[in-house]
Amino acid sequence: MSNIKIMALGGLGENGKNLTVVEVNKKIFILDAGMRYPDIDMYGVDLVIPNIDYLIQNKQNIQGIFISHGHDENVGAIPYLLKQLHAKVYATHFTISIIESMLAEHHLNIKDYKLYRINPSRVMNFGDVEVSFFNTTHSLPESIGISINTKDGCIVYCTDFNFSSVNDNKYQTSFDKITDLGKKKVLAVLSESVNSGVTGRITNDTLLEHHYNNILLHNKKRIFVAAYVSDLIRIQKIIDLSALSGRKVCVLSKKNERIFKVATSYNYLNIPSDNLLNVEDYTKEELEELENVVFIIAGTRNEPYSLLVKMALDEAFNLKFKNDDKVVLMCPPAPGIEKHANDSINILSEYDINFTIFDRDILRSQHASPEDLKLLYTMLKPKYIIPIKGEYRQMYDQFLVAKSANFDKSKVLLLDNGEIVTFEDGVLVAENEIISTGDVFIDGTSIGVVDSDVIKERTLLAEEGVIFIYGVIDMRLRQISGELTVKTRGFTHSFSYDELSTIITGLAEKLINNYFKKKTWSLDAVKVGIIEETQKLIFRFTKHRPIIVPILIEI
Ligand SMILES: [Zn+2]
Repeated sequence: MSNIKIMALGGLGENGKNLTVVEVNKKIFILDAGMRYPDIDMYGVDLVIPNIDYLIQNKQNIQGIFISHGHDENVGAIPYLLKQLHAKVYATHFTISIIESMLAEHHLNIKDYKLYRINPSRVMNFGDVEVSFFNTTHSLPESIGISINTKDGCIVYCTDFNFSSVNDNKYQTSFDKITDLGKKKVLAVLSESVNSGVTGRITNDTLLEHHYNNILLHNKKRIFVAAYVSDLIRIQKIIDLSALSGRKVCVLSKKNERIFKVATSYNYLNIPSDNLLNVEDYTKEELEELENVVFIIAGTRNEPYSLLVKMALDEAFNLKFKNDDKVVLMCPPAPGIEKHANDSINILSEYDINFTIFDRDILRSQHASPEDLKLLYTMLKPKYIIPIKGEYRQMYDQFLVAKSANFDKSKVLLLDNGEIVTFEDGVLVAENEIISTGDVFIDGTSIGVVDSDVIKERTLLAEEGVIFIYGVIDMRLRQISGELTVKTRGFTHSFSYDELSTIITGLAEKLINNYFKKKTWSLDAVKVGIIEETQKLIFRFTKHRPIIVPILIEI
């Protein structure tokens, strides 16, 4: 019998940074290690990863990191984790290839790390615990669910999935394996919440097929489709439909685009050889004259939009839009890039480019709908449901879905990051332990150097601006040499420069001269005094709190 702890170090109440921990008799199994894109007010932060202090403290108990699929939200923290934990990583071929590519980007030697390509039909043994896998349908190939099988039942981790039918076996769900798990005892299912609030029935890509076929029918010249490379399943769909209509196809992406690189080097994107178009075989003039061709412009986040704008300006891929081109935007903006997308669409309009937008009504979500979740519950028959992955309202939506599927509400456990659910011999322990978690901000390639004080400072800089006060201090004569000068950056006020300068230098001079009268004093103390007093003064006049930087040079 066992002591089982389940907790998330990230991913609950937020979009991304998914990291769940299942601990069975102290053996730690890490499920996913994702990153999150920074909020709009996290100035200068490139990405956010979970705080993994708990894992570092219990390093010796880690059995492995199991990754469900290759999206940044699930795998993006791996290089940072491996630098600190050096644990074994298990994932499918495609996902491990993504990880290898990430490590190379961090200038880490792949050979120094224990990365294992698993066959999802394999069962792994960790003494009294087994780990098994099942294929799921999602936007990247070889996505999997993970089951931690204990004597008290299985803990099934099923993130980022949907149950639509697909023909390509790289994307097919292994329903048999899921129902097999259901025949065993499932103690808890940890299922994603992202899409649990949608209403209406989610269909497969029939709408997309209909709309895209319509575009193929009416546009015989060049078609450009902008897409997210993270949505590989749909890029393949566009390739298939284009090829079926006899078009030549070419997929273009930024150099070193990670998913694209892995997908092309391991043949995860299939373009029939008769339909393959290679831009390098043509001159710019020849490319302009081509007909019956489809160019897929793929990228992450705002890249598809940036690339389209560059093409409008004749700055990308040797391809410039013409009047008879057709552009299809198959990339509904992800949270945080709405403005960039909107600005880009405005530019396309200014350049009179003929475009059509496929919105989320046409592009069905690749995440589990309420119906998918209910089907999952039916197949697994879990004792408990733990909603993961999503903002709190989305997790609550899953709670409602479970309730509507006749689950007792006490069996649906809504947790926060760091909140530990414990089962003793399969019985839920009433009180939840809490461990500290939180965000680690990554700035460039360094880790954890951006603490919250720095973020606050950057926020002030961005919102309130900065005032520099320059001066030269003659230490021997105890006087200011020459004049103090003031410069501002990003600080808005209703004063003229001369007024502001007079107010600030007057105050600073008074403070410095007061210090000169004292027996002992240091330049640092003078600077602190200037910062504090100037801040008070500026706030009194302007109600703003810019950062004050006195630069005093001793001679
Ligand atoms: Zn995903």
